[in-house]
Amino acid sequence: MGKAMQELERLKLINRISDELNKDLDPDKMLRRVLELTVSYLNAGTGSVMLFDHQNRVSAFILQQEVSDDRANRIVGKVLTEGFAGWVLKHGEGGIIYDTHRDSRWVVYDNQPYDVRSVIATPLRRRQRVIGVITLVHDEPNKFKEDELPLLNAIAGQAAIALENAQLFKETEQERSKLSAIINSTQDAVLVTSPENGVLLLNPAAREMLGLNKRSWEGRQLSNLTSNADLLRLFSPDSPSTGEVPLPDGRTMWASMTEIPEMGRVTVLRDISAFKELDQLKRDFVTAFTHDLRTPLATVKGYVELVRMDGVVSERQEEDLQGVTRAANLMKALIEDLLELSRLERLEELAREEIDLEEAVETSVNAVKPLARSKQVELIVETQSHLLVEGNSVLLTRAFSNLLDNAIKYTPSKGTIQVKLDRKDNQAMISVIDNGPGISAKDLPRVFEKFFRARPEADNDVPGTGLGLAIVKTITEQHGGEVWVESEPDMGSVFTMVLPLVRNGENPNPD
Ligand code: ADP
Repeated sequence: MGKAMQELERLKLINRISDELNKDLDPDKMLRRVLELTVSYLNAGTGSVMLFDHQNRVSAFILQQEVSDDRANRIVGKVLTEGFAGWVLKHGEGGIIYDTHRDSRWVVYDNQPYDVRSVIATPLRRRQRVIGVITLVHDEPNKFKEDELPLLNAIAGQAAIALENAQLFKETEQERSKLSAIINSTQDAVLVTSPENGVLLLNPAAREMLGLNKRSWEGRQLSNLTSNADLLRLFSPDSPSTGEVPLPDGRTMWASMTEIPEMGRVTVLRDISAFKELDQLKRDFVTAFTHDLRTPLATVKGYVELVRMDGVVSERQEEDLQGVTRAANLMKALIEDLLELSRLERLEELAREEIDLEEAVETSVNAVKPLARSKQVELIVETQSHLLVEGNSVLLTRAFSNLLDNAIKYTPSKGTIQVKLDRKDNQAMISVIDNGPGISAKDLPRVFEKFFRARPEADNDVPGTGLGLAIVKTITEQHGGEVWVESEPDMGSVFTMVLPLVRNGENPNPD
């Protein structure tokens, strides 16, 4: 073969090998094929590839010709310590044995099926480390030439890169299948959607939840796959990232959404039906129990009156009776608040009418005027007419009264309270501003919780149930609004409530 022809053949071989290497991502098959091509091109008898792990132990031994496992195991152990592969590993470079009978680097093992006389071998390298050795053998001496070593090196270089790719692919694939096993087996429904709300992935629980069969969902818009308004609402712009999603089969799911940059969103829905039921049971119990307390309480108050009617009581006894009455009244307030709260929480649909907020605010202000007067608290009211909301005037008046009641209760005498009714965009804003004691940062997040009372020890003379603001919050939310407080100790408090306005007869909650 002329020199030019030879060069061309080599290039062709390298090309074919690189094709082979790209064909298969299974490292074992890939190396077998490369070995086959190299053996045939270099006219070798047979060959092998050995791969090492990080401790330089043999992790794979690929032979072009099958030998018994038993024999392969025996060779593998020894070749690295005393044989030619060990020499290549140690020196980190390729080499040729022209005649095994004259070269001590070749070790002969018993019952060798093939009488090796010449050998060519070179390392497979990943970065600086030798990760394997490729070896070709022949049964005649002097079969391999010095100038074949660069070719074998080039093949080994390509094989090492392909091997690394295959291994990375395998690792990624393993990770992927682990993840997919988790996603597929979880009871939680998992939805992955694009920024345009196209469905990218639904796990089996999500498909079951949406009542979809195997593949018909891929790439489609979520709104084409379900009509569940509560679920779809979560996917609309500016919606909160969590929320309850009731299902037609009666289950209630809790959805939480996470944005994934450049991909879209992952939504996980967990079945919370059991918690909802428990919560309902608890509420039913509290309601039933509270209800039953009313009668004995009325009896207690009745007996107090009877004692007074029976004859003159001493001053000391009168004080005691007043103590009993105060306690009974507080208990009554607690029972009434609890019953009201549970009524509110059960209320599924609010009886709605159009309400002029100015009227509701004025009614509430009038109701608390006597209390304000008795404490010499000044009430400054600024309202606007024609701010219309849709809702229940009894409940809204109750909510405003609770805020005003608190402001007066907690503000020392001769204080000032401002009540403002304003419009802000398409919302009405009601603020109750006092110059009372304020609320500490620690208590601030909790004042709307049921039964929470800040500094109850300091408020000894301010009776309360800790339910007033919980009622305000429930009523506000039932009207599609929000309520919050801003306050600092000794700086007074500002309670603000916003409610969606009716605009030109439009529905304020376009659901
Ligand atoms: P209650 O007034 O019956 O204790 P609320 O739910 O109405 O219950 O209020 C919860 C707590 O919030 C009160 O105990 C009080 O500590 C605090 N709070 C409410 N309003 C004010 C206010 N205007 N100024 C200071 N503290 C307040």
